Amino acid sequence: MTEHSYDFLMPSVNFFGPNVIGKIGERAKILGMKKPVLVTDKFLEGLEGGAVQQTIASLEEAGVDYVIYNGVEPNPKIRNIQAVKALYEKEHADSIITVGGGSAHDTGKGAGIILTNGSDITKLAGIETLDNALPPLIAVNTTAGTGSELTRHAVITNEETHLKFVVVSWRNIPLVSFNDPTLMLDVPKGLTAATGMDAFVQAIEPYVSVDHNPITDSQCIEAIELVESSLREAVANGHNLDARTKMVEAEMLAGMAFNNANLGYVHAMAHQLGGQYDAPHGVCCALLLPYVEKYNLIADPQRFAELAEFMGENTEGLSTRDAAELAIKGMKQLSDDVGIPETIQEIGADPNDFELMAENALKDGNAASNPRVGTKEDIVK
Ligand code: NAD
Repeated sequence: MTEHSYDFLMPSVNFFGPNVIGKIGERAKILGMKKPVLVTDKFLEGLEGGAVQQTIASLEEAGVDYVIYNGVEPNPKIRNIQAVKALYEKEHADSIITVGGGSAHDTGKGAGIILTNGSDITKLAGIETLDNALPPLIAVNTTAGTGSELTRHAVITNEETHLKFVVVSWRNIPLVSFNDPTLMLDVPKGLTAATGMDAFVQAIEPYVSVDHNPITDSQCIEAIELVESSLREAVANGHNLDARTKMVEAEMLAGMAFNNANLGYVHAMAHQLGGQYDAPHGVCCALLLPYVEKYNLIADPQRFAELAEFMGENTEGLSTRDAAELAIKGMKQLSDDVGIPETIQEIGADPNDFELMAENALKDGNAASNPRVGTKEDIVK
């Protein structure tokens, strides 16, 4: 835990709640945006009445011109950010609006990074590596989720090496985020489960991180309680607006928490699975969570026992160790209830790759804040 001093990052302006998307045109105008590149994918662009169409309607109403990049890929690649940069320059754009989940936001952030900080983004991997501000960026979020619409992280995959790397800088934080749960009502079950588990992991890892502080603790606790009380419901019935709204609150709180307290081995290892096999990020995180946290438990059993309580487990009369074990059981139960796969083999993992992936996981920026210091052998196991 950071005992004495820490800096605390907060995103600047965040619109939250049903139908806030209608305010984006006005907000783009306030920011002086004249021609943003709207960064999204083909599916979202074509979604009738969806986030992209509502964003465009609001921009047009406010008289803001735009140009669309619709080539975002899941686990966004360097080629995606280069394509956005090329379009931005060709069209003389002046700003970026991302519409989608973490992949759209990270593509927009990555493009912003190489527009103002040098064209080779691989050289900028790491923490606080950016010297220059990105172009003005608004993030319209459609999954609950990664928190990328308000974090300082941009997660990019090098398609040649299959390595996923992270650029972490306060300069990456979008100027404005939009989280409108009505845009998430039609998110399919599998994606709701995977993204919701990502939000859950992003509340668990900062809680047990060596960098946690009282502010991030309170955000994690609230986020965990919100996930526990709404993720199953959101998966069971996507049109449950109350459950969708709570999941948005959870993912925002978790995003703010890990912006400051950082993550751990679940994310360090999930990045390897995502980079190597192009597997969905939330599924990778959810699969790894109970195993990594069981391993971490001896580092701070008391914190894990507290987690069990926040997750609604009955810990009365239990020893700290037994209560902590209940937290691990609860994590697996939540994954099972929402239909996450059981094994990493189901997402194509090959044991022949494990040594190299373990080495790379220990080099991932998220590894440093894990509560237990591991070896390559531990990660492989
Ligand atoms: P995603 O952005 O990759 O989207 C997955 C799929 O969902 C896409 O095909 C998209 O078209 C579809 N989709 C998105 N919104 C939808 C909607 N409302 N309705 C129907 N379909 C919709 O998924 P994600 O989980 O949000 O993002 C994952 C990426 O974010 C990974 O690359 C991960 O590493 C990264 N990430 C970034 C941060 C950060 O802080 N920058 C944090 C965690 C994860």
